[in-house]
Amino acid sequence: MKKLLTGNEAIARGAWEAGVVVCTAYPGTPSTEITENAAKYDEMYAEWSPNEKVALEVGLGAAIAGGRALVSMKHVGVNVAADPLFTLSYTGVNGGLVLVSADDPGMHSSQNEQDNRHFGRAAKIPVLEPANSQEAKVFTKLAFDISEMFDTPVMLRTTTRVAHSQSLVELADRKEKGIKEYQKNPSKYVMIPANARHRHVVVEDRLIKLKDYAESTDLNRVEWNDTKIGVITSGVTYQYVKEVLPEVSILKLGMTFPLPQKMIMDFANKVDQLYIVEELEPFIEEYVRSWGLDVHGKDTFPLIGELLPETIAAKIMQTLGDCSPRETTEPDQLQYEIPPRPPVLCPGCPHRGLFYVLNKLKVTVAGDIGCYTLGCLAPLKAIDTTICMGASIGTAMGMEKARGKDFARNLVAVIGDSTFIHSGITALVDVVYNKATTTTIILDNRITAMTGHQHNPTTGFTVKGEPTKEIDLVLLAKAVGVERVRAVDPFKLDELEKIIKEELAAEEPSVIITQRICALIDKSKNNPYRISTEACTGCLRCLKLGCPCIAKEGKEVRINLAQCVGCGLCATVCPSEAIKKEGGAND
Ligand code: SF4
Ligand code: SF4
Repeated sequence: MKKLLTGNEAIARGAWEAGVVVCTAYPGTPSTEITENAAKYDEMYAEWSPNEKVALEVGLGAAIAGGRALVSMKHVGVNVAADPLFTLSYTGVNGGLVLVSADDPGMHSSQNEQDNRHFGRAAKIPVLEPANSQEAKVFTKLAFDISEMFDTPVMLRTTTRVAHSQSLVELADRKEKGIKEYQKNPSKYVMIPANARHRHVVVEDRLIKLKDYAESTDLNRVEWNDTKIGVITSGVTYQYVKEVLPEVSILKLGMTFPLPQKMIMDFANKVDQLYIVEELEPFIEEYVRSWGLDVHGKDTFPLIGELLPETIAAKIMQTLGDCSPRETTEPDQLQYEIPPRPPVLCPGCPHRGLFYVLNKLKVTVAGDIGCYTLGCLAPLKAIDTTICMGASIGTAMGMEKARGKDFARNLVAVIGDSTFIHSGITALVDVVYNKATTTTIILDNRITAMTGHQHNPTTGFTVKGEPTKEIDLVLLAKAVGVERVRAVDPFKLDELEKIIKEELAAEEPSVIITQRICALIDKSKNNPYRISTEACTGCLRCLKLGCPCIAKEGKEVRINLAQCVGCGLCATVCPSEAIKKEGGAND
């Protein structure tokens, strides 16, 4: 039976068919739906782990114990998981382990666009790259076989287009693999230097065997056509080349590390002009050049961002001196223009009150990764730095250590609930231990919102929706050693401002927890608010909230009643009491 699936759904299906027993992940676009879908299969344990390092550690524990394990994360998550990954390459597995790295060329939802094939090479583990949903499923299953055959973790590298596009997938039944026997084997699993030295030899030996495998596996194949142009490609760019240049010969690489050198040399020798079409880094190209082959790669195609089918066709034709336009299927045109939708905090967003106050107080704000990062945008413009998951507290502490305690009197770190659990807590330990006075604000909106509302250890539910122990952030901060811990509703602006001022003044670490549920999961129904044109003085203070429902139309300020969720924050800031709830008194 065939079914239309996204790449992420297909990976979850592939894991289920492959007999996987444990699936772990930290949510991150474009990988999140893998685990959401894996959690729907009763035969597989699934979890949102606190971060990617823990996800991989749980996965490797399952694999060493003999079960198959799928570990999923976005590309920057592999940075967090790199420590166990590199040593897992030495220990090997037992039951198969597949690490999905979902890369994000074009940075649709990421802070950088690193190419994680480099991680495969650096950790010396095989990298597979599916080009569509069918391959996503098949390659997932094959990756588990390779993992067990070569006793290695395997990276399945997808990109946003493969992860989120749909195509038909042939479904199969689950093959129970059972749990392989576990045997105590310290020389393999205890990586003290004496054992690790031996295991490094095993890794190099394995790499030689994997190179031979790359030459013979069906993952890599040649599609012969006209030999004037030969294209080596992998992943989604294979689909683009097929679409816009159907006449060229293609070497499609499903396994991009290690590369099949003989196959590539043979292909290169049979075509007149060789091109390598790959998104982001010249990963394949650098190998091919090092083998002395003449090739067009990043001299022709962009290094930055996603490649487009038209760009690929145009660039290849240009190098051949053919500038005639290619026939491509034009996407259907809409009959109307879609209005631009700039990124903005949602109507009723609990973070709006905090950033309004921080902007008003003109404090320096070390920010973090989450939808609250949008607090950097006008008119709130509250955030000074955003680096990576969990970086805010350490960044603020570093600023204090460099510029002194007086600077810290006007400096806060802001971090979401899930991000704090992910990797913020260790920096808070540093603040306490190394005598900083950092004020940390944890934005507790009861969910991991940016990636689409996943549960986390503070929400009280697992990925399968089962109730579980809920971590209390107040108690946690106190347990770390912070004595000044206060909780506040971020819509009580006066109280929030007073608390922030008091904690900034305190010459010791403090934690403020803003507690209000994400507007998108808040089920309470509120009437919208309306601005009285008679009472409004046109001071425009309400516009400083950056609520997308409020706009100046001509001389009047209006609220879009269809969008307004009735949070009432605008009424709080209006000095003229011109903003009233429809059909009743303000809360
Ligand atoms: S804050 Fe009040 S008075 Fe000022 S523009 Fe908005 S509605 Fe009018
Ligand atoms: S009540 Fe005011 S701040 Fe809240 S959503 Fe409506 S317009 Fe925006």
